[in-house]
Amino acid sequence: MIFTHDTEHALDVMVDLVNSAADGAEGLPDLAALAVFVDGTGASDVPPLTAADLAEVRALRARFREIFDAPETARVVPLINGLLAEVRTAPYLTDHDGHGWHVHYFAQGSRIGEHLAVDCGMALAYVAAAGELDRLSSCAAEGCDRVLVDLSRNRCRRFCDSRTCGNRAHVAAYRARRRAG
Ligand SMILES: [Zn+2]
Ligand SMILES: [Zn+2]
Repeated sequence: MIFTHDTEHALDVMVDLVNSAADGAEGLPDLAALAVFVDGTGASDVPPLTAADLAEVRALRARFREIFDAPETARVVPLINGLLAEVRTAPYLTDHDGHGWHVHYFAQGSRIGEHLAVDCGMALAYVAAAGELDRLSSCAAEGCDRVLVDLSRNRCRRFCDSRTCGNRAHVAAYRARRRAG
């Protein structure tokens, strides 16, 4: 593991959120879709979802996308700080739902947009502080605009986790090997 479990989980959630708008599709068209997404994040203590939440989450998604598009420290640090300055934070230790002790940064009763901004914003802050922002990238497959965070030790990931790109990567590697052989 490169970062803590919480940080890596938040990075996964951020990637899923950004990719919900990839390739020109709207993966969060309505509140039902948002509810499924929120469920998948494992976020606890989220107030009932409203249309305002949907708008807030989509706006946040666009800001995360901006970070992936050019993950350079000088450009990204103000974006991360801006994100964290806007939301209520109230760090505390918790071991809810059988998880080990970990820190929640979002204030209790936070809306889902605040929740995501704090969790993903803090995760980005740790990544930036560790000088690891180059682990954020866009998929190298032609015609794919999904994003990824490479959490492999040897930083070898270039493609997103969609089946299509994984296969394309496979085929490309196979062809390269054949050419080399
Ligand atoms: Zn938790
Ligand atoms: Zn891809």
